[in-house]
Amino acid sequence: MEKQMETKSLDHIGIAVKSIEAALPIFEKGLGMKLEHIEDVEQMKVKTAKLSTGNTIIELIQPLAGEEAVSRFLEKKGEGIHHICLAVADIEGACAGLAKLGFKPIYPQPKTGAGGKKVNFLSPKDACGVLVELCQ
Ligand code: ZN
Repeated sequence: MEKQMETKSLDHIGIAVKSIEAALPIFEKGLGMKLEHIEDVEQMKVKTAKLSTGNTIIELIQPLAGEEAVSRFLEKKGEGIHHICLAVADIEGACAGLAKLGFKPIYPQPKTGAGGKKVNFLSPKDACGVLVELCQ
């Protein structure tokens, strides 16, 4: 397999929750993380909260009305680790390179995710059972 992209860092770890309001005290007060940002991401139909510790970010994701993928995850598996996100310098180039290797990015074009970043996802089938988000 020929290398097709450079990753810059682990951007965040995504955790699916039923309710950000209920989950926040666990991560903020219980686990001592710092709440950085709460945002409704319209294009993804999710509410997200970003919490930090050191240089690591955890993203809580709560589906909003009409959202399908995270809702299905919660129904099937319950709350838990949903995805890891890798930061890349060139998301279009990364997706094109991955497609050459037979990976199937979930969106034909990147969407706008939390923080206005361009994001796309790789199926867990392509990455050892892990849903991988790419962001730029
Ligand atoms: Zn994410």
